Amino acid sequence: MAQGCVYLVGAGPGDPDLLTVKALRLIREAEVVVFDRLVSPAILDLIPAGCTRIYAGKALRRHDMPQDDINRLLLKLAQSGRTVVRLKGGDPFVFGRGSEEAEHLARHGIRFEVVPGITAAAGCSTYAGIPLTHRGLANGVRFLTGHRQNDGKLDYDWRRLADPDCTLVVYMGLTTLPEIVAGLLDAGLPPDTPAAAVQNGTTSGQRRVLSTLAVLPDAVAQACLAAPATLVIGKVVALAETLSWFVPDPAPNPAYDSPARPSASGGDVRPPLGQSA
Ligand code: SAH
Repeated sequence: MAQGCVYLVGAGPGDPDLLTVKALRLIREAEVVVFDRLVSPAILDLIPAGCTRIYAGKALRRHDMPQDDINRLLLKLAQSGRTVVRLKGGDPFVFGRGSEEAEHLARHGIRFEVVPGITAAAGCSTYAGIPLTHRGLANGVRFLTGHRQNDGKLDYDWRRLADPDCTLVVYMGLTTLPEIVAGLLDAGLPPDTPAAAVQNGTTSGQRRVLSTLAVLPDAVAQACLAAPATLVIGKVVALAETLSWFVPDPAPNPAYDSPARPSASGGDVRPPLGQSA
C-alpha cells in the first residue's frame, strides 16, 4: 500500500479568515484531521463531514494525549495510506512541537509538508493594535515561552532579555507572569515599560489588558484573564490605543470560542492601575 502524507498545518490563532489558502485546501481534502485544543471551533467547522477527526489536545499539566502517542498515531495513519492533516494552533514550528512530529516522521521515512500559520504573537498583537516593531520604538522582537520545564523555575538570563529596544512576546506566560516581571525589573527594564496581555486573540471573545510592566500582574489578575493569553512587553504597546482597529463582537460568537476556553465578554479590560485600555 502506498504511504500517505502528513501535512503539519498551522491554523492561526482563532479567526478562520486567518487560515492560509493552502491550509484551507488541505483541510477540505483531508481524510483524517488530528487537531489540537487551540484550534478554534470555527476552523473545525471547515472539516468536511466525511473526514475522520481525532482530538489530540493538550492543556497545562493535563496531557490529553502524550506526545509519543501523537507521534505514533501520525505514523500509523500515514503508513495506512491516509492523507493526514495535523492541525495545530498558530504556527506548527512556534512552540507547537511540530518540529518534533516532523522529526519523528522523517526518521520513519514518512513524507510530510509543513504549512506555516499565523502565530499568536503576530495575530494577537495585530488584533490588539500593537505592531511588533516600529521605527524608533522597537528594532526587533523576541518570542519567549513562560512555561516552566517540569514545573521548575524559569531558567532565563534576564539581563539578555531586558532590552528596551526589543519587543518581548511571551507565550504560555500567565502562570509565571509575576516571575517574568520580577526578572525583567531586576535586570533593569523600566517599570513603566508599556505591557499588554491579550486573551483569545483574533476571536470575538478577545480581551485586551493594557498596562505597564510593573503593574501587569495585578491588572491581569483583576481582569481575571485566563489562558490562552499572550503577553507583549515593550514600547510598541504604547501605540495600542491609537492603532486599535479590531472590535470584538460584544455578543461573542460561540463558533469562535472553544468550549474549553473560559467564557469572556469581548473587548478591553480597563484596569484601575496603570494605563487603561
Ligand atoms: N503554535 C502556537 C503556540 C502554541 S503554545 C502559535 O504559533 O501561536 C500556546 C500558547 O499560544 C498559549 O498559551 C498562548 O500564549 C498562545 N496563544 C495561542 N492562541 C492564542 C490566542 N488566540 N490568544 C492568545 N494567546 C494565544
